[in-house]
Amino acid sequence: YAAKRSGRAAHRFYRADADRASRRLKVSTRLRKAITSGSLDVEFQPIVDLTASRITGFEALARWNDTQLGPVGPDEFIALAENSPLIDELFDLVLDRSLRAAANWNAQIDATTATPRAKGGELLTVGVNVAARQLRDRTLPSRIVDAAASAGLTPSCVVLELTETALMDDSGRSRAVIGALRDAGIRALIDDYGIGYSNMARLSDLSATGLLDGIKIDRTFVSDLPTDRAVTLLEMFVTTTKALGVSAIAEGIESDEQLNLLKSLGYRFGQGWRFAKPMSADAAARFRLGD
Ligand code: C2E
Ligand code: MG
Ligand code: MG
Ligand code: MG
Repeated sequence: YAAKRSGRAAHRFYRADADRASRRLKVSTRLRKAITSGSLDVEFQPIVDLTASRITGFEALARWNDTQLGPVGPDEFIALAENSPLIDELFDLVLDRSLRAAANWNAQIDATTATPRAKGGELLTVGVNVAARQLRDRTLPSRIVDAAASAGLTPSCVVLELTETALMDDSGRSRAVIGALRDAGIRALIDDYGIGYSNMARLSDLSATGLLDGIKIDRTFVSDLPTDRAVTLLEMFVTTTKALGVSAIAEGIESDEQLNLLKSLGYRFGQGWRFAKPMSADAAARFRLGD
């Protein structure tokens, strides 16, 4: 019925639509080039054990600064890639860089203690984001196992970050993939928890499979602190993680006030600008927690 509209408004409508379509086409074309040429970057943001004040690993975040388009944010290019085979190529690139970075962190000797960086034999993990459709891809588990092996790491160093929507898919195919990931010793967490569609029965099944390691609460709840509503919801989420026997991770921690509130609510792990912004693999290798 838009076609029946006339005059300026309709013209603007078509113009905006055409601009969006041409931007999408341009971004997809350039993204494919960036992936095949390896000019896509990966940055790493520390995940902190809030009670022990130490790093447990890093989350890998894709970064792209295109020579023609300038910097393009992941929210834009992931949305374009995630419903096409491009997401698989992007994932393999991010995974490969992540594992090479993780092999480097884990091999490092801490100059202050003369012991390997990963204290107590516990290896630093690397979190890799996974798009929903990838959970229906039977090749996913073996690709991760192979990538870990070629970096000289155990698959348990990899923590897949999955969305609620992806995990609620209970098809035979995704159940088989989840089982194979678990059997390979790969770990997973739910990302952006609290804004999607999970149901408790499915969450409880998933934690029983042994694949689910933790639940990462969406950062909107942390940024709403210290309202009563945010405190109540964050309290409820931490109770959920305890009932399921998985870790509670808070993302988007920017201030001391947020950090202290989260600790008092029982959050064991966290991530955010309060500790560090995402950084290059080299900077991550040198990174030490301040106070
Ligand atoms: P996410 O997985 O929830 O990642 C956390 C986002 O929060 C990142 O945004 C990170 O830079 C940002 N962040 C971290 N700490 C803070 C903080 O204290 N305050 C604020 N305001 N933001 C913080 P980024 O890098 O823009 O990524 C956005 C989303 O794009 C990610 O959300 C993830 O869903 C997706 N993404 C990024 N890299 C990849 C990738 O390699 N593969 C897939 N499938 N998705 C990716
Ligand atoms: Mg994530
Ligand atoms: Mg998240
Ligand atoms: Mg997020």
